Amino acid sequence: MNKQIATQNLDKLITKVEAARLRVSEHHIVKIIGVSKYSTSEDVATLYEAGQRAFGENKVQDLKDKSVALDELPIEWHFIGRLQKNKINNLIDLRPSLVQSIDSLELAQELNKKLEAKGKKLNALLQINSAKEDSKAGVMPEIAIETYQQIIQTCPNIKLKGVMSIGAHVEDRDIIKESFLTTKKIFDELKPLGAKYCSMGMSSDYELAIACGSNMIRVGFTLFKN
Ligand SMILES: *Cc1c(COP(=O)(O)O)cnc(C)c1O
Repeated sequence: MNKQIATQNLDKLITKVEAARLRVSEHHIVKIIGVSKYSTSEDVATLYEAGQRAFGENKVQDLKDKSVALDELPIEWHFIGRLQKNKINNLIDLRPSLVQSIDSLELAQELNKKLEAKGKKLNALLQINSAKEDSKAGVMPEIAIETYQQIIQTCPNIKLKGVMSIGAHVEDRDIIKESFLTTKKIFDELKPLGAKYCSMGMSSDYELAIACGSNMIRVGFTLFKN
């Protein structure tokens, strides 16, 4: 990907995000995370030069490789994938800005134990399986609020900042919308507990997600395409 294409992709995305957020409110600010999981460190550097500052990876090893390769750039790294227990220590050592994919109380408690041992804290989101799809990680919507409270109560080294969800994997926009609204409703109920981010929306559905109240989108293909 050359600089011109990177700038073009980013400009187009920003224009659409800007229009979508203004349809919600002038005060509705949306943060864009560039998902670099199918791309190279060079492509991340090119998009950084075009102005993108936050990037997300879904494998601990890839996050490590890219963050080491791009060490000199002050990139804000997010972890957005399934976290295996044997990778927790590696992830903590990479000091990500936000781990978006805490998908169970058990994982949170395991992570908290290892954070305590290292004397570190970590910002995180609770992932919700709003579309109730077997293929997806995340807590079921019915227990999301209870799980969020339990993590706050039992995991002092995890700083919960909100929720993350992946839209329903279907063609029908109404069903995708319903899954986003389920997540948004939970997010609203968690605001008194300090929830700040409602992370939802990817390349195919970020405008709909923003219309449903998302304030953080995770965009891969649309940003990195040639
Ligand atoms: C891959 C991925 C994305 C980005 O998907 P695109 O369709 O490439 O925009 C967003 N969120 C998560 C959790 C992902 O794994």
